[in-house]
Amino acid sequence: METFYEIITIGVSETQINWPKEEIMKKIIVLLSLIVFVFGICPVASGKTFVTIGTGGVTGVYYPTGGAISRMINKRFKQYDIKATVESTAGSVYNINGVLSGDLEFGVAQSDRQYQAYNGMAEWSKSGPQKDLRAVFSIHPESITLIVSNKSGVKSVNDLKGKKVNIGNPGSGQLQNSKDVLSAFGIDLNSITPEQVKAVEAPGLLQDGKIDAFFYTVGHPNGNIKEATSGRIKVRVVPVRGKGIDALLKKYPYYAKTIIPGKFYPNAINKGDVESIGVKATFVASKNLDVKIVYAVTKEVFDNLESFKKLHPAYSVLTKENMLEGLSAPIHKGALKYYKEAGLIKYIDPKLIP
Ligand code: GLU
Repeated sequence: METFYEIITIGVSETQINWPKEEIMKKIIVLLSLIVFVFGICPVASGKTFVTIGTGGVTGVYYPTGGAISRMINKRFKQYDIKATVESTAGSVYNINGVLSGDLEFGVAQSDRQYQAYNGMAEWSKSGPQKDLRAVFSIHPESITLIVSNKSGVKSVNDLKGKKVNIGNPGSGQLQNSKDVLSAFGIDLNSITPEQVKAVEAPGLLQDGKIDAFFYTVGHPNGNIKEATSGRIKVRVVPVRGKGIDALLKKYPYYAKTIIPGKFYPNAINKGDVESIGVKATFVASKNLDVKIVYAVTKEVFDNLESFKKLHPAYSVLTKENMLEGLSAPIHKGALKYYKEAGLIKYIDPKLIP
C-alpha cells in the first residue's frame, strides 16, 4: 500500500520536479496549515458574533418581537458582523436569568420583572438584587388578560373561586401577575385549582374543558387569544378592575391601567373594550454584554422605528420617547451611547444612567 507521502506526492513526481523528500514534506505541511487557517480560523478572525434573543411562547408577542429585532440587525450584517437568532422560552423570568448567566445575549422581559430582578424581589428574593441586569429599551404594552370559558360561568375575578385556573408556567411573567390579581380579590391559591402550564397550551386546554380560565400577560393582538376566542367553546375576556385592583396600583408602581381592545377578538362573547392593568415589555441584557453589540441593536431599532413598527400591530403605539419609559435597571452603556448621540438622553430617568 502507498504511504501518505507517496499518495500526496504522486502528482508532483509525475511532473518530474526533483525536490528532496524533506522539502516536499515541508511544503505539504505549509499547504495543510494554510487550508486549516482559511477554513477553520478565518470565520472567528473575521469577528462574526452570534447573539440569541430569549422570547416567549410562539403564539405570544415576545416571539415575533425577537424576530423583528433580529431582522433589523441581520439586515446590517455586512456592517456589524452580528447574526441574531431567536429562542422560544418560558418567558420573562427565564429570559432575565438567561441573560445574567450568559446563556442568552438579550431577553424580552416584563417591566415589573425587570424591577423585581434588579431589586431582589419575587423569584429573586432568595438570590438577591441582580445588579448586572441592564435595560436597553421598552417595547409594547402588555395587559393582564383573563380568559374564561362561557360554561365556567365566570364573569368577574371573584367568580374564579373553586375553578381550575392556569396561573402561568414557572419562568413566565404572568405567574406573579395572576397571583397579585387573585390576592387583590382576596382569593387564596388554595381556593382555586391552580395549573402552571405554558400559555401556548392554555387555549387548547380551555377548548377541551380541561381548565376554566387562564391568565396571560401579553400584548394585543396576539395569536394566543385569537386561538382561545375562535374555538367551538365560547369564551369571555374578563375585566381586571375594582377596589382591590386600585389598591394594587397604589402598592406597585409598575402596574398601570390598560384597555384590551375588543376589536381584536370579535369572536369573544363580550363586546367592546375590556379594562385591565398591565406592564410593558422591555428589552434587557447583562452589564457584561459588549457595548458594540448593544449599540448596534439599539441604533438599528431606533433609527428604523417606522419600519420596525410595521412588523407587529402591538407596536402601533410606540414612540422613541415612550420606549425609554417603564425601565428600572440602569441603561446598558451601549444603548446609552446611542441615546446620547441621538439626543434622546433627555427622556431617560437620570437615576438609570450609570
Ligand atoms: N409576558 C409574558 C412573559 O413574560 C410573555 C408574553 C409574550 O410572549 O408575548 O412570560
